[in-house]
Amino acid sequence: MNRFAFLLVTIAVAFGARDASALDVFACEPEWGSLAHELAGDAVSIDVGTTALQDVHVIEAKPSLIAKVRKADLVVCTGADLEIGWLPQLIKQAGNPKVASGPGYFLASDQITTLEKPSKLDRSEGDIHPQGNPHFQMDPYRVLAIAKALDARLAELDPKNAATYQQKLADFTTRWTAAIKGWEAKAAPLKGRKVVVHHISWIYLETWLGLEQVGALEPKPGVPPTSAHLANLVDITKSSHAFAILRAAYQDSKPGDWLSEHTGVPAVTLPFTVGGDDQSKDLFGLYDSTIDKLLAVAK
Ligand SMILES: [Zn+2]
Repeated sequence: MNRFAFLLVTIAVAFGARDASALDVFACEPEWGSLAHELAGDAVSIDVGTTALQDVHVIEAKPSLIAKVRKADLVVCTGADLEIGWLPQLIKQAGNPKVASGPGYFLASDQITTLEKPSKLDRSEGDIHPQGNPHFQMDPYRVLAIAKALDARLAELDPKNAATYQQKLADFTTRWTAAIKGWEAKAAPLKGRKVVVHHISWIYLETWLGLEQVGALEPKPGVPPTSAHLANLVDITKSSHAFAILRAAYQDSKPGDWLSEHTGVPAVTLPFTVGGDDQSKDLFGLYDSTIDKLLAVAK
């Protein structure tokens, strides 16, 4: 190879390498970062704004996050007002028109219907979610619907890699659909069982697996429990024969532990998102771990 040919190859490789990461994606939560990775692999570079050990209702719009949004081609967030306290600020501060609206702004909540949409808005009801419950990452069918929409968005923003995205979506759909069948078979004994929750984070998981929520440690979302509420909850937990008290990895363990001590019902920390425990390395691990942890206490 002469020097000129070598130079051409070098340029081609350099451009190829640039093409290999055609989009910068900013995901608000780990589950959407993982989903983008399933659908795009190394075709995009992914920044995740939060971890499983943070409460995504209340995130600080830090300069490091603003910098990530500033260079993003696509922002992927839950929506349904989950990030209302910080995402609008990140986008405003970043001053990046690509992700302020239009195809670069992807809200998972726009792709599905939410549960628990309040019929009236009343702030006395606590920190309610007017767009419905935003914690839908624990419904595998909604995740699949979101995957399809996100894949179409990736292809729209990066048409050169459209075939890659299409193939990866097909592959993900096959593996995810098979996994759902496995999870449903495994979790069958949980059907009809009762749970108490810390925050109302589990309605989608409960609806999917047929669990019944009989109480919540937070009497109203975002409001800490009073002693009267806790006393009542002890009665409910015992009389309903709840099998578990559920909380997410980021939540304070004290209220659930207290209830557990007073009722003998085990408190279980579920990962809630990717990275919430050792097993939850991706979306598949997140669901595997969640079901294993529920089954471990559902005797
Ligand atoms: Zn919430």
